Amino acid sequence: MQKGKINVTSENIFPIIKKFLYSEHEIFLRELISNAIDATQKLKALSSVGDFDGELGDLTVRVSLDKEAKTITVSDAGIGMSAEEIDKYINQIAFSGAEEFLEKYKNKVDAIIGHFGLGFYSSFIVSERVDIITKSFREDEKAVKWSCDGSPEFEITEVEKEQRGTDIVLYIDEASIEFLEDAKINELLTKYCKFLPIEIAFGTKKETKEGSEEETDVPVIINNTKPAWTQKPADLKEEDYNNFYRELYPMQFEEPLFNIHLNVDYPFNLTGILYFPRIKSNIEIQKNKIQLFCNQVFVTDSVEGIVPDFLTLLHGVLDSPDIPLNVSRSYLQTDANVKKIANHISKKVADKLNELFKEKRDDFEKKWDDLKLFISYGVLSDEKFYDRAKAFTLLKNTDGKYFTFEEYQTLVKENQTDRENNTVYLYATDADAQYSFIDAAKAKGYDVLMLGGQLDTHFINTVEPKLENIKFARVDADVVDKLIEKDKPEASTLKSEEKDQLRPVFRSQLPTKDNFVVVFENLAETDAPALITQAEFMRRMKDMSAMGGGGMGFYGQMPDSYNMVINENHRFVKQILSETDETIGTKVAEIRKEIEPLTTEKDQLVEAKKDIKEEEVPQADKDRLEEVEGKIREQEDKIEATLTEYGKDNKLVKQIIDLALLANNMLKGEDLSKFVKRSVELIK
Ligand code: ADP
Repeated sequence: MQKGKINVTSENIFPIIKKFLYSEHEIFLRELISNAIDATQKLKALSSVGDFDGELGDLTVRVSLDKEAKTITVSDAGIGMSAEEIDKYINQIAFSGAEEFLEKYKNKVDAIIGHFGLGFYSSFIVSERVDIITKSFREDEKAVKWSCDGSPEFEITEVEKEQRGTDIVLYIDEASIEFLEDAKINELLTKYCKFLPIEIAFGTKKETKEGSEEETDVPVIINNTKPAWTQKPADLKEEDYNNFYRELYPMQFEEPLFNIHLNVDYPFNLTGILYFPRIKSNIEIQKNKIQLFCNQVFVTDSVEGIVPDFLTLLHGVLDSPDIPLNVSRSYLQTDANVKKIANHISKKVADKLNELFKEKRDDFEKKWDDLKLFISYGVLSDEKFYDRAKAFTLLKNTDGKYFTFEEYQTLVKENQTDRENNTVYLYATDADAQYSFIDAAKAKGYDVLMLGGQLDTHFINTVEPKLENIKFARVDADVVDKLIEKDKPEASTLKSEEKDQLRPVFRSQLPTKDNFVVVFENLAETDAPALITQAEFMRRMKDMSAMGGGGMGFYGQMPDSYNMVINENHRFVKQILSETDETIGTKVAEIRKEIEPLTTEKDQLVEAKKDIKEEEVPQADKDRLEEVEGKIREQEDKIEATLTEYGKDNKLVKQIIDLALLANNMLKGEDLSKFVKRSVELIK
């Protein structure tokens, strides 16, 4: 028997390992199994070049639990180790200043483990003692047992071992007994080892005989050693890809739309299969489904920083020995290799979409609604992706037809270009709520796009400046003639005094929670008496701010603001005007009369000081002007009050306003109920 001291400069590294690696204690199993697989593959490699000519035999890696002895054992039939090799690979922990190092990297557990060959030592996270019982593949070597209780002292003894290979026996400590449960081990094996290239056995199959379950000798193999991504695309059918998808995501019931099989060996190594899921809404919950592997060892399923953000919406696997896995995320983001890989994936994804678009346009259109969110996200977040995607990004109109940007421009250019030479793309966000506006636009021969998705406001804001001479406007941003202003707007048919008279009458009954401005438009007699529009710019800014667009908070705090557009030519409006005139016209006229001399005087005072400096104006004149202006205001307020008083009980006014609100889905609750009652009364 030989005794010795593990060669680390720090007196006792194990407590440090335990302490710092605590949060990641489950990785020990991944590390031990990876070593077992490596040892097995090394043997296979030696065999294939003729350096090992014995029987390979059964190479299964076995994991077993002994609850009574409180041990977990990982056994392989790989190359094994001689006493010398144990000394070289296990005893000499190949770094100095362990303590300072761990101090520096205490938050980067993986960095320590991978970088400095602490893989095996991670077993001390959960063990009070670890034994290695190993026999080298070389005939002349004796089997040895290495044993260590977590102090830097170890023992090494010769033992009897028939089989070539290594057993690692972990004596689990009190704090880690959770790992002595089959379910826990199964969970870890499924997480980390599901696709390792050598069969891994844990437990035995159960059989139901005559109603009761019985153990059999047949081991359960927990992994798929040849996952689809390691195979040649030519050898796989659509069905194989779909089966693999289900293997990856047993809880995902929807089939993916299609997949991309990545296979790159220059200038870096990357294999993988990416699946396009149907993304209907809420992109956040869809993220982080991609699993990252390093030579079939599961590493992580949070791939942000490694692939462009929008690609985290995809599902599937990536496997690359070239991604430096054992370093921090911030390092990953600046790593040149990682950038190249990210760019490559982004390009491949765009190429695949382009291929589908070109070769199977029909099918592509059918899938578009499910793909759209993904592509929009790419367009928004990745300039290069936009350049590639503009060829196959589709716009869907309210009739359910799809167009590329180019096709759409050809379709609408002639009829939808305004006098400033901007082609206006009209869009709706809700076909039902904006029905009357869509209808009005179509009646003009305009086409209307459907852009009501989660990212569409962002999408519009992003592509609009990139498309030359193209403006997007929501159908209810203005009355139809002003949405696309082709000619000079027609002169108003109402005199300005008439508008002044009508404005307070309508204003008296507007809802107060939002900001309404009464405007008059020269619309057709057959158009609605009133309608509500919302200016494009403000609405978009508010939408952006609602979605948390950077620096938009200011717009978010503003109330919604709308235009209450009154149709000057509608007979109801004319009727209200004449009734107002009949009922309170005389009263208003009397007040106006009183204003007349005041206005004349004001004009004279203003005229008098027009050509002289402010300080030369006599103080008496200044005072008088102020007084006159005050009196005018007083009288105007009186007119306003009179008209408001008249308007606020006018049922026709209320009805017209409510109809406009109703058409915009803005009439709710008590107001709606009152409207219904009033309507019934009006029918009588
Ligand atoms: P790493 O695997 O990163 O090199 P480890 O501490 O996990 O670091 O292992 C150190 C070395 O011990 C390995 O490189 C290998 O040579 C040897 N080793 C560990 N486990 C086994 C095993 N099951 N069979 C044969 N050799 C092993």
